[in-house]
Amino acid sequence: MERRLLSNSTERKMEESPVRDVETGSETGGEEALVGNVNKLMVSPPGYSGAPRKGHLLFDACFESGNLGRVDYISEFEFDLFIRPDTCNPRFRVWFNFTVENVRETQRVIFNVVNFSKTKSLYRDGMSPVVKSTSRPKWQRLPAKNVYYYRCPDHRRNYVMSFAFCFDREDDVYQFAYCYPYTYSRLQHYLAGLERRNMPYLQREQLGLSVQQRRLDLLTITNTAEHLSPEREKKLVFLTARVHPGESPASFICQGVIDFLVSQHPVAQILRDHVIFKIVPMLNPDGVYLGNYRCSLMGFDLNRHWQDPSPWAHPTLHAVKQLIVQMNQDPRVSLEFYIDVHAHSTMLNGFMYGNVFEDEERVQRQAVFPRLLCQNAPDFSFSNTSFNRDMVKAGTGRRFLGGLLDDTSYCYTLEVSFYSYMAAGSTAPVPYTEETYTKLGRNVARTFLDYYKLNNLIKDNRPIHIQSSEVTGNDNKKGNGVGRDAADREREKSQSVRH
Ligand SMILES: [Zn+2]
Repeated sequence: MERRLLSNSTERKMEESPVRDVETGSETGGEEALVGNVNKLMVSPPGYSGAPRKGHLLFDACFESGNLGRVDYISEFEFDLFIRPDTCNPRFRVWFNFTVENVRETQRVIFNVVNFSKTKSLYRDGMSPVVKSTSRPKWQRLPAKNVYYYRCPDHRRNYVMSFAFCFDREDDVYQFAYCYPYTYSRLQHYLAGLERRNMPYLQREQLGLSVQQRRLDLLTITNTAEHLSPEREKKLVFLTARVHPGESPASFICQGVIDFLVSQHPVAQILRDHVIFKIVPMLNPDGVYLGNYRCSLMGFDLNRHWQDPSPWAHPTLHAVKQLIVQMNQDPRVSLEFYIDVHAHSTMLNGFMYGNVFEDEERVQRQAVFPRLLCQNAPDFSFSNTSFNRDMVKAGTGRRFLGGLLDDTSYCYTLEVSFYSYMAAGSTAPVPYTEETYTKLGRNVARTFLDYYKLNNLIKDNRPIHIQSSEVTGNDNKKGNGVGRDAADREREKSQSVRH
């Protein structure tokens, strides 16, 4: 019923209400002309020429990771919002992030986001935009009951997401976004904080620069202490995130991985002794800065260009690929894992995509890490995890490196829902928060210990309390069976490398 009301009001708009085109510098009003973000845009009623009053909303998206291309005034209580497409690529319109101020107390408003490029969406399943305001700076999801997602008779029968919001403080600036933002500056601030702690096992370097000259950061986390034998070949785990800039949950996961690995947690200390972690937390810093959903500044989906990245058009991807190729040839290390972190707009839970191989045993070994992660993370689903070789995914990091690296390595895409997970035994989905995304990252990190214990790389000589409280699932029969095979292969491999 409410949905019908909304569509009716939109139809009314088409017949009666003059639509104010607030797009900067263009008279066409066509979606293809949405090139810039709205910049401190005061939307007064049509024909109104006096000084702005409280309740004439002021929209802004000219800030980092901001995205809002146009606002149409429908009524004092309703606005149509247009997502600004990715730079140089109008096909992608999903991420939005904007502020509203100059509100009236108790002003109730309906916002219609009218130009999504996707039709299938978790909005159907209860997902809602996130909001914060000056006096409530912690991001929250809007109540699902205030959100409607429906095919609209207008807007080329596009799917429209409408949400109702009641403003309550006149002096607050309200910010709305597709999901919890995680900006380039936030990452820089976080990394600078890590550097100030002067941890001997953490190294930060600039692996390269983006097209717009932003830093491509690389972290190396490993224990280089002298008691460790320098001749021993070290395992290498390579992790990347934010190749798709709108997938902000990937940054929370990545930060969870890093926080855990640099911590004093006993599992982290053991992992640093045996494993080198190389982490590129933001593979597409320009796209993140610009508020794109999927592409780089020049409109490339970088996760389709792994086969032949260009140093001038895809400089960050080019630099990461070069480093991985070089690591793969380095006899002192064994590149064993590549994990690329993403967020998913239609699925629930955390889950993985892996590769398929002719060799059945290799297929089984690919399943070990996700199985172990499933035991450690209540939000990670092994049943959602799948192994495929779609042609459309041929240029992805996971597929390309799956073909490049030798058969004892594992390449995965780690996905997490933009919305929620189903906890075991519950029927209602639990919406993710910034904290639960980060927690998934910590669980990913500690799962490497379980994996390497299975493979006998790490002997079980830790204090008892750590074994019982932190490491679970190693007595799982299925896991052990597979793990023993892997351990055998591992021994063969390390012998062949040495000689
Ligand atoms: Zn993605």
